[in-house]
Amino acid sequence: MARPRPQSQVATEVAANLAEVTARIAAAAQRAGRAADEIGLIAVSKTFGPERIRPVLEAGQRFFGENRVPEAEKKWPGLKADYPDAALHLIGPLQTNKARAAVELFDVIETVDRAKLARVLAQEMARTDKRVPCYVQVNTGAEPQKGGVLPEEADALIAACRDEFGLSLAGLMCIPPLDEEAALHFALLGEIARRNGLKGLSMGMSGDYETAIEFGATVVRVGSAIFGPRAGA
Ligand SMILES: *Cc1c(COP(=O)(O)O)cnc(C)c1O
Repeated sequence: MARPRPQSQVATEVAANLAEVTARIAAAAQRAGRAADEIGLIAVSKTFGPERIRPVLEAGQRFFGENRVPEAEKKWPGLKADYPDAALHLIGPLQTNKARAAVELFDVIETVDRAKLARVLAQEMARTDKRVPCYVQVNTGAEPQKGGVLPEEADALIAACRDEFGLSLAGLMCIPPLDEEAALHFALLGEIARRNGLKGLSMGMSGDYETAIEFGATVVRVGSAIFGPRAGA
């Protein structure tokens, strides 16, 4: 039976991965004529336990992404107690019955994709007096299994989030279809953001974050390139 690797080896490995991703972000920014500090890195820690997340915090990373509220509720209160300046982005689908928990735990919600959810989030924020910046997720590939508002319905949802619900909208987020040119989807997201006067663009994952930076990403969400392959992936 393989012995588990010592924690120090895990720490060295993820710290090296983080350094490489950071360097690649800087290089991609430079190629695009952008400043590296315009681009935020979200380390996507879904499926990984605190023993793999702690070394990334230790190495200085402060922005993390989780896609499931219950999983984040198990892992993050302890980590946030030790690293109070760590900020957590919700990057997975959100059901309205989890909106309260999401507003409590998360610092940014990237997956607002329907008016009903926007309304419930606004109510929870008003109730708790905690304003959590939000992104509208756009289903740029119109994939039925994927969350996100359809591109042709995005303008109306963005307007409702701002004017009707008073959410603090930071920008737009997308997850391109696996089998298509991601650049086309990044360009479309940028176009929708521009015409709505939104600055934030959360796009780009381990396989395509450099392309996303070329297309204006202000936030890239990188999981496996930092933490290693996910079980079952
Ligand atoms: C898992 C996930 C990521 C990170 O994916 P990697 O390919 O591991 O970098 C980014 N965004 C969302 C929404 C995810 O669910």
